[in-house]
Amino acid sequence: MTATLLDGNALAAQIRAEIQPRVASFTARHGRPPGLGIVLVGDNPASEIYVRNKLRAASVVGMRADLERLPESAVIEDVLRVVAGLNASAVHDGLLVQDPLPDAMGPGAARQVFDVIDPAKDVDGFHPVNVGKLVQRRPTLVPGTPLGVIELLERSGIPIAGARAVVIGRSDIVGKPMAMLLMHRDATVTIAHSKTRDLAGLAATADILIAAIGRPGFVTRGFVKPGATVVDVGITSVTDAALVSRLFPAGHPRRDAFERRGSLVVGDVHPEVADVAGALTPVPGGVGPLTVAMLLSNTLHAAEMRTER
Ligand code: NAP
Repeated sequence: MTATLLDGNALAAQIRAEIQPRVASFTARHGRPPGLGIVLVGDNPASEIYVRNKLRAASVVGMRADLERLPESAVIEDVLRVVAGLNASAVHDGLLVQDPLPDAMGPGAARQVFDVIDPAKDVDGFHPVNVGKLVQRRPTLVPGTPLGVIELLERSGIPIAGARAVVIGRSDIVGKPMAMLLMHRDATVTIAHSKTRDLAGLAATADILIAAIGRPGFVTRGFVKPGATVVDVGITSVTDAALVSRLFPAGHPRRDAFERRGSLVVGDVHPEVADVAGALTPVPGGVGPLTVAMLLSNTLHAAEMRTER
């Protein structure tokens, strides 16, 4: 392996340590901590883990964090009612509804819910007002995952200005805001997706390659210019032994872990990329922890904006 591993856990701890005294100072000024409300609908196991991590991280830095749970059988009106309550709450400065919502709510449900969140409390940055402000380069609340990637690059001393960046993935949550943030820092950005021709050839022109696809091990050696920085946003829990054996050779500690547990969390980047890239984010322990740290940062920012404007 030649690539330097970019340690998301260490950077997230550093960011939390910076946030903590600001939370204490807010609490002293206002007689209450910044507050975050999280709405979790149904029983998606991955969502349970993400929400638990967010609640724990918020309480570690001294924030108030409340979970509003709704059952799998909830209808969209139930979710809208809970969001309306948090919008009106004096003690919640930020709120988010954990994606995905149950399939039974229909394909437009998440959009419908994100659209009614008060933009000033929209700590996920999914409301159209916040998306518009990001596009116009006057960002207020920006989605945590791409914001975390920027923190990771900047704090690791990876030059962005003038770099050629390729973002694979064009979702509203990751790919599009990622491209905007890179462009606003003067990278020359190309967004790729499932219809892109010669994706590997395009990716191999990148100084900074961001993979936000959701396909385990998709980005192989041939996608990467030697020395490039590769950021792996993908998170997939894999239970297919054949796939795990294509990613990790026999005797590899991660393959052993799979054999013990029967599942493994992997990214979009094939482990062989570590032999070509200059710097690489691991999965787990790369972008994921930064996403949570940036949620805390957004919540504090929302609290300060709401109370001190
Ligand atoms: P998404 O909405 O499913 O978008 C996936 C994107 O990948 C789409 O734009 C899709 O292209 C593209 N794509 C799919 N197959 C492709 C292929 N064969 N070649 C090129 N592009 C392809 O997913 P998302 O919400 O952006 O999430 C992406 C990944 O990041 C997932 O693994 C997710 O779990 C992970 N994630 C991680 C964090 C974190 O904290 N680390 C946060 C959010 C998401 P089309 O648009 O053409 O379909």
